[in-house]
Amino acid sequence: MSMELIDTHAHIDVAAFDADRNTVLSQCQQAGISHIVVPGIMAASWDRLKRICDFHDEPAPALYASFGLHPLYLAQHAPTDIDKLRKYVRQYQPVAVGEIGLDFYLKKLDRDRQLALFEAQLGIAAEASLPVLLHVRKSHDAVLACLRKIPVTGGICHAFNGSLQQAQHYIELGFKLGFGGMLTYERSHKLHHLAQQLPLKAIVLETDAPDMTVASHHGQRNSPEFLPECLHALAALRNEDIHTVAAQTTANAKAVLDFSRPAA
Ligand SMILES: [Zn+2]
Repeated sequence: MSMELIDTHAHIDVAAFDADRNTVLSQCQQAGISHIVVPGIMAASWDRLKRICDFHDEPAPALYASFGLHPLYLAQHAPTDIDKLRKYVRQYQPVAVGEIGLDFYLKKLDRDRQLALFEAQLGIAAEASLPVLLHVRKSHDAVLACLRKIPVTGGICHAFNGSLQQAQHYIELGFKLGFGGMLTYERSHKLHHLAQQLPLKAIVLETDAPDMTVASHHGQRNSPEFLPECLHALAALRNEDIHTVAAQTTANAKAVLDFSRPAA
């Protein structure tokens, strides 16, 4: 029985994949990965990201661009980048707005500036009826407050590591929760508990490549081709059949992301 998997978060556009991107993508195809969502992190890299996503070397997985201004790169974002984002969203119809959010872990990132940037981007997503891809670190309650103030059509809370209660709030707001390579580590007790307790309907798979590598490739570059290892870890934790988990997480990704949107 063949499987269809979706990597809902992989930075396949970055330089770490320049030398062997086509090889990686053909490995992904072999592994049953049909779609990869490529989140944008800063305006200067959106053109390159879009070019890479537009290039389809069949039968590799389809790559879906998302544009956004990542909170970790606050220092690189110019005020005019918000207008540029609005323009790119209108012109190129990305699958989502992201990667956006709040990072309260690193103290050097000004919280007020992050909030202003995040709310402006939520406004653009709301205007365009697009879902958002969220980066959330030590900031779930602040992010949830922003989502209540500026409602969007759902999305994915990437690399979810909050509480069950916070997860429930995201689910009520139309979000799925992304789980990836960290599930494969024995020491990830909190994540294991979440993966066991959450309804399967709320979970999507992701790798966050080239970061957050699976245990079997610890210390190496992460890659979307390792997505099946995340699937196996999730199925084992839940004591469910891998085909059931594959089919449901893929359906979940398709429920929040519209992969049928025509390319511009
Ligand atoms: Zn990311």
